[in-house]
Amino acid sequence: MGLLTVGEPLSWTETKALAEFVREHGIEQFLNIFHARRHKGDDTLKWGDEVEYIVLEFDHQNRKVRLALRASTELLTTLQKPEEAGETDLSSLWRPEFAAYMIEGTPGVPYGNMFAFFKDIEENMRLRRREVMSLLRPNEAILSISSFPRSGTLDSCSPPTFVGTVDGTSKSLFFPDEAINPGHPRFGTLSKHICERRGGPANIQVPIFRDVNTASPFVEDFFAQMNIDRARRYRQADHIFLDSMGFGMGCCCLQVTFGASNVCEARLLYDQLTPLTPILMAMSAASPAHRGYLTDRDCRWAIIAGSVDDRTEAEITGTDPATGEAITTVRRIPKSRYDSVDLYIYPTNKIYNDIEIVRNEKAYSRLIESGVDELLAEHISHLFIRDPLVLFKEKLDIDDKTESDHFENIQSTNWQSMRFKPPPPGAKEIGWRVEFRPMEVQLTDEENAAFVVFIVLMTRLILSFNLDMLIPISRVEENMKEGQKRNAVLDGLFWFRKDLSLPQCVLTHFAANECEAAARIQEQVTPCLKRNDVTKETMYTKSVKMSVDEIINGSHKKKFPGLLPLLHAYLDSMKIEALTRCSINKYLQIIANRANGTNPTPANVIRSFIYNHPDYKQDSIVNDSVNYDLMKQIWSLQKDEITLKDLLDSCP
Ligand code: ADP
Ligand code: MG
Ligand code: MG
Repeated sequence: MGLLTVGEPLSWTETKALAEFVREHGIEQFLNIFHARRHKGDDTLKWGDEVEYIVLEFDHQNRKVRLALRASTELLTTLQKPEEAGETDLSSLWRPEFAAYMIEGTPGVPYGNMFAFFKDIEENMRLRRREVMSLLRPNEAILSISSFPRSGTLDSCSPPTFVGTVDGTSKSLFFPDEAINPGHPRFGTLSKHICERRGGPANIQVPIFRDVNTASPFVEDFFAQMNIDRARRYRQADHIFLDSMGFGMGCCCLQVTFGASNVCEARLLYDQLTPLTPILMAMSAASPAHRGYLTDRDCRWAIIAGSVDDRTEAEITGTDPATGEAITTVRRIPKSRYDSVDLYIYPTNKIYNDIEIVRNEKAYSRLIESGVDELLAEHISHLFIRDPLVLFKEKLDIDDKTESDHFENIQSTNWQSMRFKPPPPGAKEIGWRVEFRPMEVQLTDEENAAFVVFIVLMTRLILSFNLDMLIPISRVEENMKEGQKRNAVLDGLFWFRKDLSLPQCVLTHFAANECEAAARIQEQVTPCLKRNDVTKETMYTKSVKMSVDEIINGSHKKKFPGLLPLLHAYLDSMKIEALTRCSINKYLQIIANRANGTNPTPANVIRSFIYNHPDYKQDSIVNDSVNYDLMKQIWSLQKDEITLKDLLDSCP
């Protein structure tokens, strides 16, 4: 999870006082990287995935399952030993995550040439899982599930915890402080400072899934049990209230990072993959239940956005919370620091940026004055509207030429659907990278591998076939909302571009590498930075609403080729060894079946299991007994003891 620096964290008051210092140095650090590395490089393609896991402990006697809080300490310490001892040829690397019950695994070294490595990725994921399994106690399990359905309920952790109530780190009524990773000061401090900055705990309202026996209106009485007055004001009919960073950052995801051969290619890929983010989020949907309830959403996105939303009320509304009057001293910020991206960054694509961009004007001027082109300056200065959340005393005075902690501090706490990653200073072997971040983790390694293979292949398809998937960014945002809804994968309709061929003006621009030149001589190339294929008016006519199936598998009726048929055409044009092509086809079939509904999303698997369980009372409540059987079956699936079909047929 982003930057991890060990040391003594400063208090929020101290951190806030240093915010401008960090931003100023962060911008200088970015500029140093940019100027050192903006030239056309020849970095070879490298890529890698990140899979997050939840560790559980079964209490078979009482038919209960709890979150095992030793994952981030005992387990992680053991898993990281070889790396800490300096071993290099490792098959996996392990990283801490926000919750004490989570761990994150990546391949030991990034993959290289993609076709040669496609056959390894699923095996590597299995290997990672086995590595953790060898360390587990007999009653423990490691699951790739996005959300633990009973997180934040009483007695949901092992060892037992005592909810910190109002004085706790995240001031949560439900999520215990002990479930925040204690192995690194960053996590608790993040949670604490987000609360302090926004002036109280998170307020996340998730619509409840309305079943036949669900109370109408559904109104929780948690405040009666807890006798805490504060809770009363958060109660919202027909919604589940979540109030801690742990409800969002305690969910697991699947991310893919890939290198680009130069800064221009990275920017182009960042933009072209952005319209795919809501589609892939909906296809990977895996988080239907939270705090013991079934919700009416299949994805964690809005929950995680709300869970780290550090904006004050004045920043959210633009008005003084006391008087309700508009204020000019505080700038309105439309979105959380965790959310979908707000702008495209390839120079020709500015026209598609049709939503309000708030930027740090001082940072913007400095970037422009130093030769960064308009759109990249806008991107960086948009990230730099945020305050640093965690600072370590030991890492304040650093050399802006050789280190980038202050830049990374702001960058890595802008948790957006895509991330544009500049090379770390000094690391010649690491180039400009792009991270695809919206996906939820899958129930099987085969499915996780399928999503990774699909995204990596999409990057090749975009570059080889010069695909253009851009739609106005406001429509990507609209799609993000659509994609979280229950069963969006089958029922949702998403804006998507009809004609996928990249216009000649962009091709010429890319071939001439004017994107890079733009950074050098802004004025001269500005006239080239326009797409002559669209205007502010016509760009809206280039996209239509389609289902996920139509987007992925194609539609005769809408005369849309579909991304998978295009991918197959691309693969046909390559000389790929038969066995490799077979395994690629297996993964692409999984993607095709997910899009057309043949293979249910993890969210749908979990829902079906719950609906059919005899202890589920059609009241939206996921009780201990249902949860125990569900987790046990998913564990059997992930140990290859049963198939997905067995799981669906297995309700007691
Ligand atoms: P994050 O910034 O998301 O915390 P990292 O950048 O450490 O994570 O790693 C994310 C993924 O990037 C891993 O799968 C890793 O193998 C991969 N990776 C590492 N080096 C490179 C590289 N030079 N180019 C592309 N991907 C890389
Ligand atoms: Mg992570
Ligand atoms: Mg990541």
